[in-house]
Amino acid sequence: MPDVRRKIDVKGIVQGVGFRPFVYNLAISMGLSGSVLNNRLGVSIEIQGSETACREFLRALEENAPPTARIAQVNVADIPAVPGECGFKILHSDADGDGITLVSPDNDVCPDCLREMLDPADRRYRYPFINCTHCGPRYTIIRQTPYDRPFTSMANFKMCPDCQKEYDDPADRRFHAQPNACPVCGPALTLYDAEWKTAPSSDPIADVARLLGEGRLIAIKGIGGYHFACDAANEDAVEELRRRKLRKEKPFAVMSASVDDVRGYARVGPLEEKFLLSREKPITLLRRIPGRAVCDGIAPGLHEYGVFLPYTPVHHLLFASGAPTTLVMTSGNIADEPIVFDEAEMRGRLCGIADYHLTHNRPIVWRCDDSIVRVADGKPAFPRRSRGYVPSPVFLEKKLSPMLACGGDLKNVFCLANGETVFPGPHIGDLVNAEANRSFRESIAHFQRMFRILPERVAVDMHPGYFSSNYGRSLGLPVVEVQHHHAHIASVMAEHRLAGEVIGVALDGTGYGTDGTVWGGEVMVCGFSRFERRGYFPPLKLPGGDKAAKEPWRTAVAVLYEIFGEDLFDLHPKFVQAVGETKVKNVAAMLEADVNCPISNAAGRWFDAVSSILLIGHANSFEGQSPILLEGMADASVEKEFTFGIGADGMLEFENMMRELVCMAETQAGRIKGASMFHNTVARAIAESCSRVSHERGLKEVCLGGGVFQNLYLLERTLKLLREAGFTVYLPKQLPINDGGLALGQIAIAQGIGVE
Ligand code: ZN
Ligand code: ZN
Ligand code: FE
Repeated sequence: MPDVRRKIDVKGIVQGVGFRPFVYNLAISMGLSGSVLNNRLGVSIEIQGSETACREFLRALEENAPPTARIAQVNVADIPAVPGECGFKILHSDADGDGITLVSPDNDVCPDCLREMLDPADRRYRYPFINCTHCGPRYTIIRQTPYDRPFTSMANFKMCPDCQKEYDDPADRRFHAQPNACPVCGPALTLYDAEWKTAPSSDPIADVARLLGEGRLIAIKGIGGYHFACDAANEDAVEELRRRKLRKEKPFAVMSASVDDVRGYARVGPLEEKFLLSREKPITLLRRIPGRAVCDGIAPGLHEYGVFLPYTPVHHLLFASGAPTTLVMTSGNIADEPIVFDEAEMRGRLCGIADYHLTHNRPIVWRCDDSIVRVADGKPAFPRRSRGYVPSPVFLEKKLSPMLACGGDLKNVFCLANGETVFPGPHIGDLVNAEANRSFRESIAHFQRMFRILPERVAVDMHPGYFSSNYGRSLGLPVVEVQHHHAHIASVMAEHRLAGEVIGVALDGTGYGTDGTVWGGEVMVCGFSRFERRGYFPPLKLPGGDKAAKEPWRTAVAVLYEIFGEDLFDLHPKFVQAVGETKVKNVAAMLEADVNCPISNAAGRWFDAVSSILLIGHANSFEGQSPILLEGMADASVEKEFTFGIGADGMLEFENMMRELVCMAETQAGRIKGASMFHNTVARAIAESCSRVSHERGLKEVCLGGGVFQNLYLLERTLKLLREAGFTVYLPKQLPINDGGLALGQIAIAQGIGVE
């Protein structure tokens, strides 16, 4: 049988992950000749040998690829055999043309490195910067592409002969591992005290493990920024951290040594376990088991915990050295600012928060927050897609012109697109302070350089005052203005490659509407090129404007005053008492005079109002707090619903429901029933609205978008009702359902994806 030759193009994250050595070893082991080289979108392989061996190679290529590789596509073509070829070569990369080079996200430490690190005979025993081609930091240490050591924050560390030998050997696990290092030549840890004076320590890891056990607060430099850590079971330490970090009640993420430790305080299903153990090591949202292992101060009053497992060598070493088995591991920042990744800033503004600082001399080039994942409808959902996932692209089917989409001002994520690739940026957070704004601008510039994309157009939210929108408008490029909720739905459509029109339900806390009011409770007919608003939540007044989002009792007063007028004082005395009579009176006066009471129909504000009316939550010390407490109160075994109306123009009518809720607020049993029935009613109202639209337009596909659907009770109930009514329902797959998904929708709309 004559030899055959195949050209195999592999697209995806296959660079900087040990893919070429893997291909080399695979080809050698099968007696194939040929070559491999990196190209713009992945690697290009040529193999030559027997038909059987070539087929076997292809199977193994996909099945046994290195753990951190992410293969998006494999194309195979027959090409003429090269007579007399022998050996298999790794060719120099062809990547410095004008194309896009994909960059790997940051990886956790791999099992091989972990084993070496805990082996007293290994030369990297207890070395906190151990890594190989299968693991270690990538995105956060890369200054520019191509991904070569001089362009990373490892540039200043010259490899010792032992490390260099590994680096040069194609058969070695550290062949071309750019961050390769060892105790002789690589970065090292230093322990500082509260005032950044060196704390004499022969073993910083052992000392920090002990200090954590003693209830101290420790700043730990990680992959994408600093964490503040303390013993999660130590109530005093947790309270002290809240005080110093100016973080009142927003939940802290916790890191446990193992899945078994997690089971001590939270429910872990099979898919959740998969996430906890996955290479990306995201924070996974889990249902809490009350009163166990961790103290209440972690997530006061909430029914969920954010949990992750160790992912850096330092984390593993701390647990192996006797640190408490569950640690608070929260972003190193103050209040709502972005996570701090720069040592100078830790020494400056954040000085005095931690008792000790465990830091090192490998600079973090780019900030990258921990990702957050949860299971919704039996599938993964990403409230935050950042470390471990960024900068992996999302592939769309249509050719895209070079374009930037700026996203929104809350939970900001931008997207950069070109060809068939969209690069969602890291989680930047809320663009409400100078540091976040700077991070937004710099990350966009970095992505443009890294992926060599020069946008020809820019898509922005149509909000007149968003920082992100005004940034986009200032670039001097043609601007596409996109309605917020249209973008939410288009994002889901793009991920599922839906074309034509669908029914979109977008529920969130705020989004600028085409009529200049604040929307956020929308049932729409959506295509990429246009949308129609066919149903909507009833508008309510927000006394005090932005203050209402922080103080749900204001919206509650607005709802009650609208229905009952002055009678509200007699009809719901417990509410008036809980909020304070003077405050209620003042807001009633604002409503009467219609001063500073903007209109909104955002679903999030209805959840706020109901939480307050049911005396569950009157304040949001973090976004969504009262609605989350309301969700936690709901009992899925309650099947009853309130009656509601739908007006001729699609407006939902909730007055009857509000009257009944007031009566139910009296007792705890009533509040549980009221919270459940409210959720059930909202789900029913959504399903009814969709059915009406479907009846008129014959549409049977529904896309759900907006942060309110992070409410699992509401989501599951809505899915059930929609499916019973014969709808096919789509949720985001890779991007957040909250505003973190907006930019993808903006790209899809601006590019008219799906519209031929
Ligand atoms: Zn490794
Ligand atoms: Zn070395
Ligand atoms: Fe939104």
